Amino acid sequence: MSIEINKEKCVGCGRCTEVCPGSLIKIGENSNAEIKEPQRCWGCVSCAKECPVQAIALFLGKDIGGLGGRLFVKKEESLLHWTIVKPDGRKEIITVDSRESNKY
Ligand code: SF4
Ligand code: SF4
Repeated sequence: MSIEINKEKCVGCGRCTEVCPGSLIKIGENSNAEIKEPQRCWGCVSCAKECPVQAIALFLGKDIGGLGGRLFVKKEESLLHWTIVKPDGRKEIITVDSRESNKY
């Protein structure tokens, strides 16, 4: 697994660099976030959850969403809106309330 960082959306806040447990993201040229070693990403999605502008997507495999699919996540107070964008552009949104995460 790995991530894709949308340079047009990234505002260079650096939050993703702080939360990646493998220190895999750096702020590079033009103050954009870059992944240093994508092959070491284990898909924990911490960076995507932390990004305030949804600039980070997780690439999905063929077993989840279809090869070429992407997963985005948007935080809204305690809610996490997980959006799967399938290769053909169709979207599926799953909303989880993190205050009730023990139920899942
Ligand atoms: S998904 Fe996890 S391991 Fe991969 S770059 Fe983001 S924070 Fe790091
Ligand atoms: S958290 Fe998002 S906006 Fe901030 S540096 Fe990372 S990718 Fe860019």
